[in-house]
Amino acid sequence: MSQTAQHNSMFEAVLARLDTAAKLMNLNPEVANILRNPARQVKVSLPVVMDNGSIRVFEGYRTVHSTHLGPSKGGIRYAMDVNADEVMALAAWMTFKCAVANLPYGGAKGGIQLDPRAHSVGELERITRAYALAMKDVFGVNRDIPAPDMGTSGREMAWILDELNKVNGEDAPGVITGKPISIGGSLGRDAATGRGVMINTLCALEKMGITAKGAKAVVQGFGNVGAHAARLLSEQGICVVGIGDHTASYYNANGIDITAAIAYTNSNNKVLKGFTGATEIPADQLLIQACDILVPAALQNVITSSNADAIKAKLIVEGANGPTTPEADPIINSKKIICVPDILANSGGVTVSYFEWVQNKAGYYWPESEVNSKHDLKMREAFEQVWAASQNYKTSLRIGAYIAALQKIEQGVRLKGAY
Ligand code: GLU
Repeated sequence: MSQTAQHNSMFEAVLARLDTAAKLMNLNPEVANILRNPARQVKVSLPVVMDNGSIRVFEGYRTVHSTHLGPSKGGIRYAMDVNADEVMALAAWMTFKCAVANLPYGGAKGGIQLDPRAHSVGELERITRAYALAMKDVFGVNRDIPAPDMGTSGREMAWILDELNKVNGEDAPGVITGKPISIGGSLGRDAATGRGVMINTLCALEKMGITAKGAKAVVQGFGNVGAHAARLLSEQGICVVGIGDHTASYYNANGIDITAAIAYTNSNNKVLKGFTGATEIPADQLLIQACDILVPAALQNVITSSNADAIKAKLIVEGANGPTTPEADPIINSKKIICVPDILANSGGVTVSYFEWVQNKAGYYWPESEVNSKHDLKMREAFEQVWAASQNYKTSLRIGAYIAALQKIEQGVRLKGAY
């Protein structure tokens, strides 16, 4: 499919980038073909009793894209748009993300098609436990290790761990990451994705010769990734002028008090609507506000061929998975906007998941300062590798990131071989 064609499928959007990188680096076509086909796709039906006594059937997915560099790793998403294609795309992104971040993992993703806001805690617990049980032969501490994603958090991870421990008859906390601290989680994991966004922002600003202090940022999304990213960016002296979530978007040219915004959402059902520290603006205006740094940290497909031209930022740091469509890439590139791609920019989460898994295996837990300093090193190393690949191949950071990842995955495929 050509660069300019519309990609109706998210997995095709992944393949479009894979093809561009493969061509540029001369990737072995057999390796490319292996990566075009996910290793394992599991779909389950989950009949669950609702609070009113009725039984509803939910669709659950887990796709293992690749295990060439180690056991597969990736989150579990609860959202209405979860489907086989989306999960397959997200799983493939995990393969590339783990390779970019130099983690000994392949890639996977799972999800359940549901609106988490439409269910009671009891219903969510039963649905989650049913999913964990249905996936008991997929998940494993050295096989496939899930984690949180959109719509899930430590709470769901704890239920899944408990269910797996019961069926396996042993306590193996490393079978899942993103757990609450008291049951084997890692210090620093909760903020890790946002923290990775912050480190990648600083790395990119350095290369661009822009001083972080006083630079203006807009952050779209105020969930786990967006809120931590906004807070950590402002702690670096970056002036966050715009924020938004699914309920409302806000702009304040003098900067928004992020601590106040987080305190507000904590007392307001986790949403921004009603925040008074900035002026409310239409949601579609947030991404195109005047700023130096744009952090899309909410949904996929928000930077498209329709709005890319209106973006004013000099730097985009993709906190979300897949926020930019392949059709928007050439527009961003022609505007000379530097875009730190999702598979690098949001790899901070899975990097600290890896630290959590290592600590679980060792049964020995690190102080937060140790997690954070190891995190800094890993992120900076990944950023430098991607930067170097983009320079060597005279391409964007996105394609540079794919090349950096594919070079490592190609070795895994070659060394492990095939039948
Ligand atoms: N769901 C997160 C991601 O997309 C984290 C995955 C993990 O920690 O395994 O990167």
